[in-house]
Amino acid sequence: MNEAVQKYVEKANKIQAERQRYIKEEVKKWRFDTIAVHGTYSVNEAIENNQGAIIEPMFLSSAQAYRDCDEMEAAMTYQIPNWAYTRIHNPSQGYLEDTLALLDGYGSGCETSCFVTASGMAAISAAIHPLLAHKNGEAVNFVACAQVYGGTFQLFNVRRMQEQGIECRWVGDPNNLDEWKSKIDKNTRFLYGELPSNPGLSFFDLKKVCALAHEHGLPFIADSTVATSALLRPIEHGADIVVHSVTKTMTSGGLTIAGAVIARKNIVCNLPNDAMKADFARYCLLWPNRDSGGSLSPLHAILALNEIRTLRTRIDTLSQSSMKVAKFLEQHPKVAKVNYLGLESHKLHGLAKKYLWLVDAKYDAQYGKDVNRYGHLLSFIPKGGVPAARLALDGLKRIWRATDLGRIKSIATIPAISTHQQMGEESRSLAAIPGDLIRLSVGGEHPDDIINDLDQALALAKVK
Ligand code: PLP
Repeated sequence: MNEAVQKYVEKANKIQAERQRYIKEEVKKWRFDTIAVHGTYSVNEAIENNQGAIIEPMFLSSAQAYRDCDEMEAAMTYQIPNWAYTRIHNPSQGYLEDTLALLDGYGSGCETSCFVTASGMAAISAAIHPLLAHKNGEAVNFVACAQVYGGTFQLFNVRRMQEQGIECRWVGDPNNLDEWKSKIDKNTRFLYGELPSNPGLSFFDLKKVCALAHEHGLPFIADSTVATSALLRPIEHGADIVVHSVTKTMTSGGLTIAGAVIARKNIVCNLPNDAMKADFARYCLLWPNRDSGGSLSPLHAILALNEIRTLRTRIDTLSQSSMKVAKFLEQHPKVAKVNYLGLESHKLHGLAKKYLWLVDAKYDAQYGKDVNRYGHLLSFIPKGGVPAARLALDGLKRIWRATDLGRIKSIATIPAISTHQQMGEESRSLAAIPGDLIRLSVGGEHPDDIINDLDQALALAKVK
């Protein structure tokens, strides 16, 4: 390395060492809310580099300039931290990544890193892509629970399996460890699960499935979109990689489409790629994602970051309202079934209760002890089949009919004709999504108003 390049590397190492010290000695000692509010953005960084801006700046520039060829060479060979070009990276994405990595790693004792993507689907695609690397004709498979978001089902079933011959082996009952086990062989690359699942609110014993993956030298990927890091941090329970649609509950405001991949350092993996195993998220950011180009716009990175600051209190409120709404629906004479993990009648309530806790409730003056919370998503089946479900959905006045969830505004849909429509009847039956299931994402309105809207809509669902 020439001397001038070396000078840049030494200077960058000093800055990096100070940054690592700040994270280890200060940020990692904060509670969840403080990390959500500030992430790694320090007063020093604001004053020295960003004209004192107390909110992380939105760097919309497409590219970064260098002082000279030596600095450019050091940067482009990844010898010094830099961002080069917004498709590769950008400081505004970095602020969001630092915060998300710390929130999902909170309490786990693990070192975590993150990279953000243009959508939740981009995050899932980016997370599975390097794990499925193979040479011509090599047989490759992965094992996934069938209760997943419809887009994920299509990505696995159509894009990977039908179009590229990479086999996805579906698990119908994710709480049956023998079923997972029976699908794993020497060509398996990873295990994948969504919990709680959208829209069926399925749940499984995460620790057991992660342990099974590790017994076979495989990483476990969890889609934790519905729970968010305020209720569940899969890495703490053994997951290697977590994916989020940041579009959803993480950022309830509805102005952002974004995704994130968060991984522990040193993932379990049976591929001979040491850089990937050592720091999966960083590796994906610097290499495959740079080439596939699905990075997040800096504008949306800062919009997302601004919403995540209130995640814990927001999900607490949404969960409490959801519980009231679920209890109302459960006793409603026109409702045949309600899926909400907080209801004692749900067959997976006991299991969900072991995992779904409001983070830091014991440090909250209001609670002073651990409390379970079950999130904002529920689904229900009105009596009278598909016609009744359609009438009830059409009868809603304040709750929006839309294919979205996690919003501060309550939203409902029939997954079989919307979010999970492309899967087809047979796959929906495997994933336990009947045609008369209504999915309801409970928002921040007063729960009485949500209940009143549901009540009047159910009254209209008269089937002759
Ligand atoms: N994962 C889950 C559980 C989802 O519900 C969704 C979308 O609804 C996604 C992933 C995909 O996220 P996005 O719409 O941000 O691509």
